[in-house]
Amino acid sequence: MPNLLIADVRPWGGEARDLLIADGRIREVRPTGTDPDGVEARIDGRGLLAVPGFVNAHAHVDKSWWGMPWVPFGGDRGSTQGRIAHERAVRDGLGIPSLSSTVAVLREFLRHGTTAVRSHVDVDLGVGLRGIETVREAVAELGGAIDVEIVAFPQDGVVRRPGVLELLDRAAAAGAEHIGGLDPASIDRDPVAQLDGLFEIAVRRDVGIDIHLHDGAELGAFQLELIAERTVAAGRQGRVNIAHGFALGDLGPGRRAELVARAAEAGLTWTTVAPVRTSPLPWREMRESDVAVGLGTDGIRDLWSPYGDGDLLAIAQTFARLHGLVDEAELTYAMELATRRAGRFVGRREHDLVPGARADLVLLDAENVPDAVVRRPVRELVVAGGRVVAERGEVLV
Ligand SMILES: [Zn+2]
Repeated sequence: MPNLLIADVRPWGGEARDLLIADGRIREVRPTGTDPDGVEARIDGRGLLAVPGFVNAHAHVDKSWWGMPWVPFGGDRGSTQGRIAHERAVRDGLGIPSLSSTVAVLREFLRHGTTAVRSHVDVDLGVGLRGIETVREAVAELGGAIDVEIVAFPQDGVVRRPGVLELLDRAAAAGAEHIGGLDPASIDRDPVAQLDGLFEIAVRRDVGIDIHLHDGAELGAFQLELIAERTVAAGRQGRVNIAHGFALGDLGPGRRAELVARAAEAGLTWTTVAPVRTSPLPWREMRESDVAVGLGTDGIRDLWSPYGDGDLLAIAQTFARLHGLVDEAELTYAMELATRRAGRFVGRREHDLVPGARADLVLLDAENVPDAVVRRPVRELVVAGGRVVAERGEVLV
């Protein structure tokens, strides 16, 4: 890959700088003016705002019907169990998981500037590990332009479906970075058995755990305590994530503070897709306690919801609106959640516009970061691993 100079950009809205990129990484952040020796390709950044590539910390890239004729919404809309049953009933007939839809979703991510993803991928008695194979094939088809970490996700339950723990174990052995869980109380109706099963595999295979927890209020809080206890006992601090965790938004201030402290002590991380009609998370307390928060799109255009276009900046904006973020520091924080604070969700120590980091960046025609969050301008240029992968909304891979 030739040494690339992206000249005259404003990292995080600051002064104009040139970014020298070599071997897919940022080599140097330089004052603008003279090009260094050895530059083989040059892009004029025209003074655009530069931010790191967006990190989608909670996606389901295997589930979508993107690119297929419109699929009408059906099934029981009211409950998680109803949605699971509907998905299982019609998924095969639509050819889901589909390689072409998975590629299409990943292309939508790239178009909008997302360069790294943590995707849950269904693992169940019907589909086995075929979804994971499909996602790996899709990533390969895009030439590695987008980085995808996999959570082997037991969407249909764990202990209520004998054989699923063995599938999760096989997925972990075959390279899935995390295994998932799902509402241990309301789906499996046996939270201790589900969690003990997941932690046993995670410790033995040295993989992360990422648990969808929709259960609200005290039922959710009870499971958060069980998860925190097991995380500490197994020494898995920093390796266990809660997805949604709506309970935290439901509880009164005292109980909520207690749970944030438990989460911090256990090194739990949190991902949210900032859904409308949910209670805000206590984001200030979480930030003060170092409970890392990542943003995600969740599934887009799938049997769970027709919504979503894969734009993580839109999720940052929704997060900001849901949580009442309005001043410059707060709006910048929303952008940080979508970018440099999210590296840990995709296995990166550093994810920023600094020397040594993977050269993932997005250029936007915006005055500053708050302007970009509230206006969501077109992504002028998207660079992933030092390669231009999208320009003005057109995907080049
Ligand atoms: Zn999800």
